[in-house]
Amino acid sequence: MRQYADIKSRHRDAILFFRMGDFYEMFFEDAAIASRALNIALTSRDRERRIPMCGVPHHSAGAYIARLIKQGHKVAICEQIEEPETNRIVERAVTRIITPGIALEENLLDPKANNYIASIFAGKKAAGFAYMDASTGEFRLTELNNNELVDEIRRLEPAEIIVPQDSETGFLSSLSPKIKATVLPVFDFGYNIALGRISEHFSISSLEGLGCAELTNAVRAAGALLFYAKETQRSDLSHLRPCTPYYAHRHLVIDGSTCRNLEIVKGLSTGEKSGSLLHVLDGTKTPMGFRLLNSWLLNPLKDCDEINQRLDAVEALIDKRGTRKTIQEAFKNVYDLERLCARISVGIAGPRDLLALKTSLNAVPEIKDALKTPGSSSLLKGLYATMDPVNEATGLIEESIAEPAPHSLKDGGVIKRGYSNELDKLRDLSGSAKTAIAGLEAKEKESTGINSIKVGYNRVFGYYIEVTKSNLSNIPAHYIRKQTLANAERFITEELKEFEQTVLSAEQKSLSLEASLFSDIRQRLLKFTKRIQAAAEKIASLDVIASLSQRAEEQKYCKPVVNASDSIFIDAGRHPVVEEFTGHGFVPNDLHIGPEENRIMIITGPNMAGKSTYLRQNAIIVLMAQMGSFVPATSASIGVVDRIFTRIGASDDLAKGQSTFMVEMLETANILNNATDKSLVILDEIGRGTSTFDGLSIAWAVVEYLHDNGSAKTLFATHYHELTEMALTKQRVKNYNMSVSEHDGRIVFLKKVVPGGVSRSYGIHVAEMAGMPKDVIERARGILKYLEKNELNEKGAPRIGQRDAYADNPVIDAKKTESTDLLLKALKAIDINRMTPLEALQGLNALKDKFCDE
Ligand code: ADP
Repeated sequence: MRQYADIKSRHRDAILFFRMGDFYEMFFEDAAIASRALNIALTSRDRERRIPMCGVPHHSAGAYIARLIKQGHKVAICEQIEEPETNRIVERAVTRIITPGIALEENLLDPKANNYIASIFAGKKAAGFAYMDASTGEFRLTELNNNELVDEIRRLEPAEIIVPQDSETGFLSSLSPKIKATVLPVFDFGYNIALGRISEHFSISSLEGLGCAELTNAVRAAGALLFYAKETQRSDLSHLRPCTPYYAHRHLVIDGSTCRNLEIVKGLSTGEKSGSLLHVLDGTKTPMGFRLLNSWLLNPLKDCDEINQRLDAVEALIDKRGTRKTIQEAFKNVYDLERLCARISVGIAGPRDLLALKTSLNAVPEIKDALKTPGSSSLLKGLYATMDPVNEATGLIEESIAEPAPHSLKDGGVIKRGYSNELDKLRDLSGSAKTAIAGLEAKEKESTGINSIKVGYNRVFGYYIEVTKSNLSNIPAHYIRKQTLANAERFITEELKEFEQTVLSAEQKSLSLEASLFSDIRQRLLKFTKRIQAAAEKIASLDVIASLSQRAEEQKYCKPVVNASDSIFIDAGRHPVVEEFTGHGFVPNDLHIGPEENRIMIITGPNMAGKSTYLRQNAIIVLMAQMGSFVPATSASIGVVDRIFTRIGASDDLAKGQSTFMVEMLETANILNNATDKSLVILDEIGRGTSTFDGLSIAWAVVEYLHDNGSAKTLFATHYHELTEMALTKQRVKNYNMSVSEHDGRIVFLKKVVPGGVSRSYGIHVAEMAGMPKDVIERARGILKYLEKNELNEKGAPRIGQRDAYADNPVIDAKKTESTDLLLKALKAIDINRMTPLEALQGLNALKDKFCDE
């Protein structure tokens, strides 16, 4: 227990798995936590002191560890690091610490998701941010402001975040209760310490080469992260890729709420992949490909050349369907190369991992062969020219690892015959001894005349000669009794013992030789890590391109023209997810936004008319084009946008103490403060969460602000039909509506966007369709009539827009001229000389009543 206490004192924040023979035992508080979390019995050691204890068998520890990690715990694995001797306590040490953010075991990882750990160092001007996926080797850093930091955490969803001591971590749990916050001493975030650690790990003399010399806060965050990763894995993590900077502004920025609202990688209702754009576009065949598709979706590009390269590659694999099919078929043999590399690097890869690596790399020549004529796509040409099958690695595995390989080294038979003379000799020795033992049976039968004699083996007694009870009188004198059974006795002989000794010692020796040979092979593979990772990256890109081609063909998408213009033209666009459900019933719609025209589209129409779908589909089409995908439309020309902002039906964020309306206003404020002329803004029902006039006023002011302060491309859906008056006074505002056909008092939503505003909401119609009681419907109609009367002035003109409307509107100008003419006419008809003062006063009053509004 002294040894335990000593080790535990260095791992206070982890559950210590303390190896004792065939078990991992846990004690004290750890035992209490683990027994509850794992639903295993809590016992006690040392009756007097009643030390709480529980344990799990070492061979099935993986599943238990996985359950603890998923519940947010850390697990420190403490092994016996020497062979046990009788009169001394065996030495033990922690060999690895598994944490939610750094787990490399297969059963702890979702093949379809990255497992990120991030690190934050809050500097004065900016926050340094670094993140790593230790299971794939990805390691990046950047600097962000507070809003960007929140967006980045929401985007990456790290399982664990490390921060310096005394940092404010409350906001992390408000972003996601699943994030594990780990605190490290401030010392580990020191700039010089970080610089030293990064330089040493990547063998570089300066950070210039990595392009992050200026990012001092990011370097501090990355240094601490690197230290933590190495400390927990107790390995040199040679598979980590150099930490290079990335800049959020080089990509089309999609903030956390936009990502959720547009259901890019998760459906809103499911919280899972289903119902998302990712689900629709996914035809990837490898785990790396899937993760890359996810990343392309969350990081669309802004550089037209880069985007068009991807689009050309997708087009090439549509044109060459045969090539694509061959490549995709070959992908079926490709395992998770990135994660295999990581397991080799930390020394936990088993024999089957090495075979999986070989099988995967063996697919490369076939893939390359299929790509031989890549057409004009420069991206495919590049992939063809540089894809490396890493023959040296596959050659080494081919000559050394037997196939099929056992699951574990302990089972023996991992190393191929012919790889090591010494091993072959040991195996021959044990083989010939076994043959001799087998031959012994016949020999003994002959010499004793007992026909039922059997030579057998059991784990406790070793080899034996078994004689049935009826024959016991005939056994020779040199048989030594070993065990008595119901119907037989078991014996050994000197000769049998010798053979047994030979077999056992040869097997023991060959097992330990195999283990050392295997570890040597794994070590030798390490020098190919970079090349294997590069091959994995290329396979992932090709997998995504093939997947996008396949889906484009199946879903009849078109190749968008992507350029640096300030326009977006989409003909017959569709919503890629909604059309999955509606099929041919989906009604396509156009979008035409030019540099001066349609900059702000006000889209009115009743609920359920298709407004939200139209808004989202346009944002999604732009996003798809910029990630390099074909789009659901008959043609599209997309001038790249810098950000997509969305404000779509927020839900209460009670965990953060924010009401729906507050969330709505926060999101709107973010848009108004950050949208640029290059941004695409989607506003769905602003101001709904408050009273009608309150909401309408806010909505009105928001549109006015967007119009008067810049020229972001804005699609604004609203059921406040009063907003359509905006088009009268604001030049770049145009009205559209979702057409509705009305027949015999029944309405049908045509889901078609047409120019012009609507003057009615049809809300009561929808209520009627929903089966509300007739009395309610009638009463609502009555109230509406009354309200509408008060919304309009005596002349039937809307009250809100009236002042500005008179100023610019030609129709209203015409009305004005008409009334001026009438007034002049009336004035001319008056003969002042024949009027009494009272009549003059009454006449003036009559004119005022007739020609003035109020
Ligand atoms: P709104 O925002 O006007 O209330 P939605 O966009 O939510 O309306 O659309 C209501 C429903 O109509 C959606 O669930 C969708 O299935 C269907 N829908 C929307 N647009 C189309 C379309 N263009 N073609 C076919 N069905 C559509």
